[in-house]
Amino acid sequence: KEAGRGRYCAFAAQMDAEIRRRSNIEAEMRDALIEGHFYPRYQPIVDLRTGNVRGFELLARWRREQGEIGPDQFIPIAEECGLLNKLMLDLLLRACADAREWPAAVGIAINISPGQLRDTWLSHKILSVLARTGFPPHRLTVEITENALIVDADKAHQAIESLKNQGVQLALDDFGTGYASIQHLRMLPFDKIKIDRSFVDSLSEDAEALRIVRAILGLAATLDLPVVAEGVETIEAAETLRALGCAEGQGYLFGHPMDKAEVEQWLADGKV
Ligand code: C2E
Ligand code: CA
Ligand code: CA
Ligand code: CA
Repeated sequence: KEAGRGRYCAFAAQMDAEIRRRSNIEAEMRDALIEGHFYPRYQPIVDLRTGNVRGFELLARWRREQGEIGPDQFIPIAEECGLLNKLMLDLLLRACADAREWPAAVGIAINISPGQLRDTWLSHKILSVLARTGFPPHRLTVEITENALIVDADKAHQAIESLKNQGVQLALDDFGTGYASIQHLRMLPFDKIKIDRSFVDSLSEDAEALRIVRAILGLAATLDLPVVAEGVETIEAAETLRALGCAEGQGYLFGHPMDKAEVEQWLADGKV
């Protein structure tokens, strides 16, 4: 009994520490939002046949004195604290302002993660940022991760419809990693599919990854949906993907996530 009690106390203390850590991060996050410590990075997405840039994916970063943490860590916390939509709208505002001088053919893609669509005003807020900055809705792509859709399909549908009515494009992100990927394709009117990096990573050494990528591209072609491959790091991967009919690629081969000045230098150099 004594031992059991000891274990319970240790557990409670651990819970306590975890709760305190969370509320510290939450407070820190609120300050960071006010002080503008979250900022966007832009990673190019290119046409695999022509090499032309098609757009940039906005990836969130946190300038944090206590040490960097990546979006894989802070996005879920922001979401739990109900701060993610505010964070995303701030970054979108920045991005639309940054992208004003970029060529007209260049779009911006943003990420919407699980639960964000539960805010029924989100689509209106996104459209109002576009209107305020004069960024044309057809140049915006919303990337939705697969598990985001399971939360509340009806609300997601409404939010997506009002964005799509204004010309916003819709991409299914991390395709192949979620549960019931193909089911998701039927749930919302997607305009493109993003193949997850995990398949692209092992394209050259893993025959199964190659077969899966080929199957995804075949499915997408049947549905008349263009595909973007993530995590393209080598010329060989880009070549293989292009030969298999993949329309667009994104990855370190073409460019890392960059700030505005780097994007403009990259565009001026005519990279790719
Ligand atoms: P994601 O949407 O799959 O974004 C692609 C991630 O792959 C990015 O990581 C990017 O830096 C990384 N990446 C791109 N090319 C390569 C490559 O060639 N090789 C490798 N190894 N990695 C590559 P990042 O920036 O750390 O973002 C991680 C995830 O965090 C994103 O995955 C996305 O799900 C989420 N995220 C980032 N920003 C936001 C945001 O503003 N809102 C939401 N909801 N999620 C975000
Ligand atoms: Ca994404
Ligand atoms: Ca992805
Ligand atoms: Ca991801």
